[in-house]
Parts: sequence; structure tokens; C-alpha cells
Amino acid sequence: MTKRVRVRFAPSPTGGLHIGGIRTALFNYLFAKKHDGDFVLRIEDTDQTRYVEGAEQYIIDALNWCNIPFDEGPGKEGKYGPYRQSERKDIYKKYADQLVANGHAYYAFDSTDELDAHRKEHEEKGKTFIYNWHNREKLNNSLSLSNEAVNKKLAEGSDYVIRFKSPQDEKLSLQDTIRGNIEIDTNVLDDKVLFKSDGMPTYHLANIVDDHLMEISHVIRGEEWLPSLALHQQLYDAFGWEAPRFAHLPLIMKPVGKGKLSKRDGEKLGFPVFPLSWNESKGYKEEGYFPEAVINFLALLGWNPGTEQEIFSLEELISAFTLERVNKSGARFDPEKTKWYNNQYLQKKGDEELAVLFQEIINQKNPNLLKKRKLSDIIQIITLIKERATFVHEFWDLSDYFFLGPDQYEEKAVKKQWKEDTPEILNALVTLLEGIEDFTSGNVESLVKEWIAAQELSFGKVMPPLRLVLVGDMKGPHVFDIMGLIGKEEVILRIKKAIATLS
Ligand code: GLU
Repeated sequence: MTKRVRVRFAPSPTGGLHIGGIRTALFNYLFAKKHDGDFVLRIEDTDQTRYVEGAEQYIIDALNWCNIPFDEGPGKEGKYGPYRQSERKDIYKKYADQLVANGHAYYAFDSTDELDAHRKEHEEKGKTFIYNWHNREKLNNSLSLSNEAVNKKLAEGSDYVIRFKSPQDEKLSLQDTIRGNIEIDTNVLDDKVLFKSDGMPTYHLANIVDDHLMEISHVIRGEEWLPSLALHQQLYDAFGWEAPRFAHLPLIMKPVGKGKLSKRDGEKLGFPVFPLSWNESKGYKEEGYFPEAVINFLALLGWNPGTEQEIFSLEELISAFTLERVNKSGARFDPEKTKWYNNQYLQKKGDEELAVLFQEIINQKNPNLLKKRKLSDIIQIITLIKERATFVHEFWDLSDYFFLGPDQYEEKAVKKQWKEDTPEILNALVTLLEGIEDFTSGNVESLVKEWIAAQELSFGKVMPPLRLVLVGDMKGPHVFDIMGLIGKEEVILRIKKAIATLS
């Protein structure tokens, strides 16, 4: 029987989760759903000094907003819980002890001062101090001290850590689904701390023990954890456990220049790096992105479908996703492309859905503006302007003249369009408009056009000044569509006001 697919997203609650973290969560989610498996959220909070209040809730809210909820995790207890490592702290000690008992780990009593002194001494000689096979027999630990001395120290309650005893002169052959086979010489590895004197495991021990106990089948995480793979594989071997399959995702790189996209890049370069706002930084949500667009562009950061397709629904991503199609090399982040995605999703959305979102924005500006407006009017306005928008919040600037008459007129346009005879022509137009019963775009258009012809006027003498007085500028869709939507009374009012102001 093949093992059930169980993956986990295992963030440490040390701050806002940036989009790289969400991308890791997304790839885990897609992989789990593709294989009818489980997506687990595990909070890795063993390092209490780095714990940030609110970070865990932020992670949960961000996953929910992106519509990639976890199946098991804090608040959704399954049979493998608890899912916060701080609530599992009694579990780890016995595993650390087990490694000491079978010779894979040892007690180390070196004080911080002693270690600092070793580091300094090495630095002075231009060397780096590494705690491992080449010097551990000379340091203050259970490999160098007698059993008696060790037992005495433990009985006295001396501070100690438990270190992994990394072997000498061995070649490790590690497997990564994305990177293939990786050879490591154990001589370059240090004896990592597994358990600390404060009674807490380190990331490495807790992570391996929990992945094992939670029956995680695949570990999908960022490339920054690749250097830990050798230790993790050795820990599985030392416990005699079958290791999960590993896949290390490529880094997300800065839009320009070298290096990994950092939390600070967003502010420096003017685009969001968080899904939701975190402290002072606005998130994708607050900037007006649709979660579907965010998920779509994140999926293509480091994964490729092998086709030209760029727009994917979540369901399509689930069915297309494979780890084999994740790239090895870093994925350059392109803020313009994120906007392109939002634009695509906005154009695809139903006008009614957009109208409801736009109504909320108008309501925040001034609820009175909605009094005379039916939802069907807003829908019509949206059909007229949406092709020029990337975000719903741009609707207002693109359509404010549907709600409010201009209080000023663009200077250059006035110079160009407002001629001596314009007031007279517009006054005559008002008389025509007053007589129109059916004030719909099509009807007004044919009557005004007939009138222009009958008066032997040119279009240029009527239409541009008309647009200017209705909109305040030369922008906007078809003038007759604007007229039909704002209605006869308002059109006449705006023409009269302009004549009074500009003449
Ligand atoms: N707690 C680690 C982190 O913050 C988890 C790494 C892993 O997935 O093993 O990213």
C-alpha cells in the first residue's frame, strides 16, 4: 500500500509571513490536494525568544484569505495534534535521550564564554571554529569527560546541550525531488545542537520528531533549508525511521539585481510583500488584489506548467501541479506581472460582483451618492470603465463624474474647446435636450446627431465641449452613454453650470 500523502507547512511565528512563505504553503496545498492528501499547519515556536504576538493568527488569516486552508492545525485538531511545538515540549526530550543512549548524540557542557574564546582564538588564526569530529574530543562534553564526571555534572544540574555526533569521513547521498542527488562529505558538517539547556528542542530535533510522529510523507520547503538536509537525513537514519521525500523550492529573487526578495524590498521598491497588511506594510489584500490573482502569480514563481498557459484557477493548479515541474533556479519576482494578473482577473469577474465591491467604496466616500443609483446603474458604469482598470479601487477615479459634476475644468481642454460661440451652441442644445422624453443613450445620440446636421454645425463644435462640461476633462467613455446614465436633469444642470463658469 502506498503511504497516504501528508504534507505540512511549518512556519515559525516570528513575524508577518511574506509571500515566499505563502508560496511554500501553496505548493504544499496543491501537492496535498492533487493526491487527495492532508495539508497540515504546524507552528514551530520552540524558540521563545523570537516569538511574535499575533504572528500565528496572521498565518492562519493569510492562508484563509488565499483560500488554501489547512486540514489539520491549531484550532482544527486532528489525531496528530497538538500542532504547536510549544505544546509538545514534553515529547522531545526522550528522543534526544534516545540518541545519546545509542551513541548518535552527546552531552556538551561548554559555556558560552568557553565557546566564544574558541571562536576568537580561531579567528585570530584566520580560521573558523566548527564544533565537530576534529575537535570534539578536546572540548567539554561527554565524549571527552569520564562517565563519572558526566553523571556528576548532570546530577548537579549543570547547563548542557545535546549535540548530534556527526560522523567523520563519510559520504552522504541525499535525494531531493527537485534537485536530484546531492553528495555531502560529513567532514564539513558541525555537531548541531538538538536540545537546549532551557529544556526545549532546537528546530532540527523538533522538526524531525514531529514530521515522523505526524506521518509526513513529503517535506516541501524553501531552499534556505537545503543545508539542513544532511543533518535531517542523518537524524532519520539514527532513529531508524523512514525519511519523508524532500523537495526544496527555489528562492524568490528581487525584481532587479541579485539576491533573495526580502521583507524590506517591498517598501523600498513600492510593492507589497505580505499577503495581508503587517504592521505598517500594506498587503496584497489591502492594495486591492484578488486572492485568486495572488495565488495564480505565486504558483508560477518557480513552477511551470510546461505550456504557455498563464491563467489558472485553483482547481486547474491542483490538477496541473507536479514537483517535477518545479524549477531549480531562483524565480525573479516581477511586480508588473502581479498587476497584469489582477487585471486579467478583474476583466474576467462578473460586473455584478464588481458592482457590489464598488458600491462599498462609494458608500465609504459618501452614502448619499448611492441614493439615486440602482445596482443596475453601477453595473452599467462598470461595463463602461472596467477595461481601463486593474483594481476595483481605480473605479472611482475612472467614473467619479457619473456621481458628481465637475467642480473644475481641465485648463488645456478649456483653451482648446471653449470657443466664443460655444455658450450659444450649448444653450441651444439644452433646449433640444429638455424636449427629449426617452433619455437613453441611443435615443439621445440619434436626436442630437440629427440636430447637429439640421443646424449645419460640426461634431467638433458640439461633442468635445459637451464632454468637457459633463466630465470636466476630455476623458471617459462614449458621451451619450455618460448622458444616458447621469440623466436629463443632471446633464442640463452641468451644461448650465459650465456656461455660467466658463463664459
Ligand atoms: N520552522 C521552519 C521555518 O520557519 C520550517 C522549515 C521546514 O519546513 O522544515 O521555515
